[in-house]
Amino acid sequence: MCAEPDHYKPLDPPLGPEPVAMVPVVQLYARDVPGLVFPASTDLLQILWCPLVHEDGRYAANPRLHWRNAALTAAGAMAGEPPCPHTADEDYLPRPCTVSPTPAVEYPNWDLPEGLSELLDQRFEDLKKEKGYDYFEVATTQQSKVGGYPGWTQPPDWPDCAGCGTRMEHLLSVTATEPGMGRWLPLNDWASGQDETATPCWMAEADPAALDAFGHDMALGDLGGMYFFVCRGCPDTPYTHRYDC
Ligand SMILES: [Zn+2]
Ligand SMILES: [Zn+2]
Repeated sequence: MCAEPDHYKPLDPPLGPEPVAMVPVVQLYARDVPGLVFPASTDLLQILWCPLVHEDGRYAANPRLHWRNAALTAAGAMAGEPPCPHTADEDYLPRPCTVSPTPAVEYPNWDLPEGLSELLDQRFEDLKKEKGYDYFEVATTQQSKVGGYPGWTQPPDWPDCAGCGTRMEHLLSVTATEPGMGRWLPLNDWASGQDETATPCWMAEADPAALDAFGHDMALGDLGGMYFFVCRGCPDTPYTHRYDC
């Protein structure tokens, strides 16, 4: 539950003191995401957030991240429906959906080393001319993801760990650009990439009706994203988040 006294739904009158139930946003089991490193004795990652706007400097939902043990969690689970927030900003209210973890190779976008983008500019233009794709479309991953680079909409804002001062590791991004913008490069695409005449699978499968029914359906402000970071060097794996739109 979130009892932040100043959280609000835009255009609505101020809320009373009654706490607001947080909503589940991401649930990942270690067995489904082999590339995700879990802290010792945990195998379940859960992220919830309060679906209201919080004035913590980010003006967005207020998330909480939990590393759990799946067996212990299941043993202590409550019966019946989870609590529902009595009010919510729809921008932060995910539609129930499943994840389909797909290994992908990605290259930095906003996080390209300084000057490299200018050096590669001609190559990017050639690519666009020959294949019709932007670097942004083929090399970066705009969908929600574990690992890789934060799906920044605005220039990078990497956090430093409050405990040790080192730059934190990007854990995962939840982005509003699901599922149809940009692309990721699933491993099976590498094979089809050998055939110059094949239609790339992300284009072949881009049926608008199917895309509409897919994913969490959150606007996150305006095509924004929530980015989670951890420090694995400090006790209890501290985390923080960034939000932009
Ligand atoms: Zn709240
Ligand atoms: Zn640290």
